[in-house]
Amino acid sequence: MTDPTDTRDTGPRAGTPLWAFLAGVTAIGFTALLVAVLRLDPGPSTELVRTPLFWMLAVLVILGELRPVMVSSATAVGGTYPSAMFTFAILLYLGLPVAVLMQAAAIIVNAMVTRKAWHRAMFNVAQSTLALTAAAVVIGAFGHVPSPAVPWVPSGDDLLAIVLSGVAYFTTRAALVCGAVALHERRSILRVLRASVGPQALVYAGLLGLAPLVVVVMNHSPGLVPLFVAPLAAVYFTATLSMRRDHQALHDELTGLPNRKMLIVSTEEALAESRQDERVGLFLIDLDRFKEVNDTMGHPVGDRLLQLVAHRLTHSVRPGDVVARLGGDEFAVLLPSIRDAHAAREVAARLRAALTEPVRLEGMSFDLDGSVGIALFPDHAPDFELLLQRADVAMYLAKEGRTGVEIYQPDKDRNSPERLTLLGDLRRALDGRELCLHYQPKVALACDAGAAGGAGGAVYGVEALLRWRHPIHGAIGPSDFIPLAEQSYLMRQLTAYVIDEALEQAARWWHTGLRVQISVNISARDLLGHALPEQLEAGLARLRLPPSAIQLEVTERILTGEQAYTQETIKALAALGVPLALDDFGTGYSSLIRLQRLAVSEVKIDASFVRRMADSADDERIVRSIVDLVRSLGLRSVAEGVESEAVALRLAEIGCDLGQGWLFCEPMPAADATAWLRERLAAVQELGHGLRPEMTQSV
Ligand code: C2E
Ligand code: MG
Ligand code: MG
Repeated sequence: MTDPTDTRDTGPRAGTPLWAFLAGVTAIGFTALLVAVLRLDPGPSTELVRTPLFWMLAVLVILGELRPVMVSSATAVGGTYPSAMFTFAILLYLGLPVAVLMQAAAIIVNAMVTRKAWHRAMFNVAQSTLALTAAAVVIGAFGHVPSPAVPWVPSGDDLLAIVLSGVAYFTTRAALVCGAVALHERRSILRVLRASVGPQALVYAGLLGLAPLVVVVMNHSPGLVPLFVAPLAAVYFTATLSMRRDHQALHDELTGLPNRKMLIVSTEEALAESRQDERVGLFLIDLDRFKEVNDTMGHPVGDRLLQLVAHRLTHSVRPGDVVARLGGDEFAVLLPSIRDAHAAREVAARLRAALTEPVRLEGMSFDLDGSVGIALFPDHAPDFELLLQRADVAMYLAKEGRTGVEIYQPDKDRNSPERLTLLGDLRRALDGRELCLHYQPKVALACDAGAAGGAGGAVYGVEALLRWRHPIHGAIGPSDFIPLAEQSYLMRQLTAYVIDEALEQAARWWHTGLRVQISVNISARDLLGHALPEQLEAGLARLRLPPSAIQLEVTERILTGEQAYTQETIKALAALGVPLALDDFGTGYSSLIRLQRLAVSEVKIDASFVRRMADSADDERIVRSIVDLVRSLGLRSVAEGVESEAVALRLAEIGCDLGQGWLFCEPMPAADATAWLRERLAAVQELGHGLRPEMTQSV
């Protein structure tokens, strides 16, 4: 539970329901305080002030007011001040007036020491006064009205009175604090109570339960009272420790923002609580150009920038809204109640405006920007996972179209319910590592490289192709699930998985003498973030592999899409030295100039032309001109889908460098590919074919 009175400034705005509530409670509380003080008997009270017991209690209450015992549940955090044990004991022994005065004095002393806002201290004085008053009323009903003149030492027979007064104390406090929190965060009070009462009740039971014992000791040997600090300290430290652990598990270390786990819990709570006339909004925010800063200025500056972004985002939303960091430069914002799409857009625009304020760090000025995707409950999705997925679809649109903010639009989303089920299955398959890579060799076509029959010549690398064996649907080809994943946030995870597997395989081959390059297919979406170059850099270093051990295949379509964002990642990959191949060439439109600017080293001619070559003069002409074009640019050409010897021969005559297809070999599991490559290596050595120096990765 966040502290509703902790608005860090002048307090809630006058006239708001929260302001009215706080003002009302404060007024009633202070009236109760005044009434209690008026009932104080001056004679015995002055005498009491002269006793060491009084001062000892005062010190204990002030100390106990210093720091709350924090208890946490997933989304609500509540503080309980250990002073409650002593003030409750004072209430029982010396009566209400002494208890409320001491409590009020302790709160004010602490407010001054810790420079708390005055309205906050006043509210706390009022609510604890009211709680003590409620407890006093209960013991009064049992016929006990203790005072400094007639202290009360409860006995075993008074158990019921004490338990009931403890309950009254706790109920009053919980109701007042939770009421304020509910108004502050615009949540229903029942929800707030449910989320925080359990753990709080436990701590209060411990504190208040000890109070009668404190009274007995006070009466019998006051000198022993400080010993109660020991169990208090124990409670305090264990609670703090478990609280810190909970906090760590649910928050991002760098920014201190809630993490994905916490966002899930908060979203689920918001969905359960949401009212009919309102919506729950989930935003996904991805920073643009963050990588540039991180690369040019270094990680420490990047980290500070992220912290700054976190700060700006949290200060651009209302209390009760949740800003979370999902990782990297990806943030999410949960709005537990928002009127409609229009209002959501306004919040998103505000968030973006906060982001784009120029940043000055290390004497330099940075322009940040971000793309925001919005999904609303119940309009767009019924649960967290789908909301996030749809916010992601919208975010992707915002980034691609450079519009900055987009609301999810079903007609721009290609995900049907069946596809969504499949996506869920795919996510589980990824988690369970049920997907594997098969490898298909690319072999030299030129006659001098030994294209003997269908075997082809030297091997110039293999392409990694993903395979998924679905528990119900059986084998599913990548063409059936990759386009699906490409539409969702799963793509990142999928590519990370494939890169990981490919790197591991490359390491197994390279470190056993098979220096074969593995080509990995990636999608346009992978080029939007900076995760890919980072993963490659770390993976290559960890496995002691040269950058040329891996090649990335991107389709030609990437060239025709939005370039500004992908360009950044392509540059990073080029700097890393990982070569790029252009896949499915001929199926899209790409100009010569673009081809050159992309710095690709290999162009793969789409199988649709290659396969028809033998029968269609048109297709042969197309392939021939692509091969010529590719050669004139100094690049390598690869024909995909080579199924017959006739085609292989034509390709060799045309001057195409490499071929890939069933004629030579189908994609095979890693073990078969290893055997195939070893056999090929031996054969090539026997035939005495030299390695082509310009193609260093031949076996
Ligand atoms: P691609 O990159 O163009 O891969 C070549 C496809 O042609 C593969 O299909 C391969 O099995 C198939 N093929 C190979 N030789 C022949 C042949 O002689 N005749 C015919 N008809 N086909 C042949 P596959 O494995 O079904 O993959 C389809 C596409 O899915 C790939 O096209 C690629 O774009 C994508 N893909 C595969 N694995 C991955 C991956 O790990 N990540 C990503 N992002 N995409 C992948
Ligand atoms: Mg490919
Ligand atoms: Mg292809």
